[in-house]
Amino acid sequence: MSLIVQKFGGSSVADVDAMRRVAKRVVETKRAGHDVVVVVSAMGDTTDELLDMAAELNPNPSPREMDLLMSSGERISMSLLAMAIEAQGERAHAFTGRQAGMHTDTRFGKASIVGVVPERIVQCVRDGAVAIVAGFQGLSDNDDVTTLGRGGSDTTAVALAAALRADVCEIYTDVDGLFTADPRVVPSARRIFNLTAEETLELAAQGAKILHLRAVEYARRHKVALHVRSSFSDKDGTWIADHAVNPAIVRLLAPTIADQIIASKEDSVEAPIISGIAHDRSQSKITLVGVPDRPGLASRIFAIVAAADVNIDMIVQNVSVRDNSTDISFTLPSGDGQAALEALEAVAAEIGYKEIFLTEEIGKLSVVGAGMRSHPGVSAKLFGALSDAGINIEMISTSEIRISVVTALSDLDEAVRVAHTAFDLDSAEAEAIVYGGTGR
Ligand code: ASP
Ligand code: MG
Repeated sequence: MSLIVQKFGGSSVADVDAMRRVAKRVVETKRAGHDVVVVVSAMGDTTDELLDMAAELNPNPSPREMDLLMSSGERISMSLLAMAIEAQGERAHAFTGRQAGMHTDTRFGKASIVGVVPERIVQCVRDGAVAIVAGFQGLSDNDDVTTLGRGGSDTTAVALAAALRADVCEIYTDVDGLFTADPRVVPSARRIFNLTAEETLELAAQGAKILHLRAVEYARRHKVALHVRSSFSDKDGTWIADHAVNPAIVRLLAPTIADQIIASKEDSVEAPIISGIAHDRSQSKITLVGVPDRPGLASRIFAIVAAADVNIDMIVQNVSVRDNSTDISFTLPSGDGQAALEALEAVAAEIGYKEIFLTEEIGKLSVVGAGMRSHPGVSAKLFGALSDAGINIEMISTSEIRISVVTALSDLDEAVRVAHTAFDLDSAEAEAIVYGGTGR
């Protein structure tokens, strides 16, 4: 018998009609002969509304009480969903994170899972009932309720799937899966059927927002197969797995793309060269001009930036050809630009650079695909497409399976579109639909 974990995000359980629709899907999966464990997020914008109320009452609430409050949204949805399932004739029991055995460290608001002991879930499923688990929460060693950070229910679902050795963890959301580009920028984007966890991590880290990065990391480490799909449609979604998948499960849950997925996981089919294009508008750039070319200065500069608690992403340093000085540029989250600038200005005399600039408005585009490992010419094609469109490239960085470039923010959308076309990713008709959610 197989075990399927199904996670439903906030927009999928936003009101009672949505709850009924989710319950129906869970009941159908159960009646197809599978054990089902469900993880739920808070209904609709509940978590944001709780945050707003807390902020009105106290600008600086205690983290412990904040996590108790935040965890309550998921408890509402788990109880209601259990009731909805029972009303449709299957037995269901709801469990808080604590009851489900989700153990975390003690960092309120951003706790990490340190162990999963899902005895009650195993017992519940063994008794023939559906287990419903509140996402996004756990219990610390100090016996306090903790939460895993915004969007953390994905991580709950993957961690449970790993602990239960589930055949697949399905992530239900309000879009039909992962797309070759953001459909709001590229209307001809198509659904990606099949991805590796590594590609998904690169896409998520470069600004594709469907999945929680930590959840994908967890899935990769523990070899959990993911199926990302919409709860608003019956379309098959995107499968994410590095390893062979259970063919019977794929055929049940994604019949129209099953053959393709099964074949690709058996390595008999080559991966497409490019799987998708991500973009990111949330970065800024700092450039230091005329930095003396001496050992230790780069280390000093980035130590100062790190001490300001700023995470940097791309770094470019020129070779010094004249007067023993060089230029260094790096990108960082927009919100941190001012802090990093001030920290570096404070040590201008010590480092001895000539000028410093902060560019708030930059765009980053990333082309991701495992196939580029074995195919030369991907950079040439990308740079050619951008140059044909008259788009200037300001910075470049690469990994084994990714090429990222920085452009002016005003060029970004066009850059994504021309790259999408250059890599033959356009589909004939617009396919992407966003079904629900208020985008909060
Ligand atoms: N309800 C939480 C949030 O909105 C957790 C989640 O949705 O995954 O961030
Ligand atoms: Mg949410």
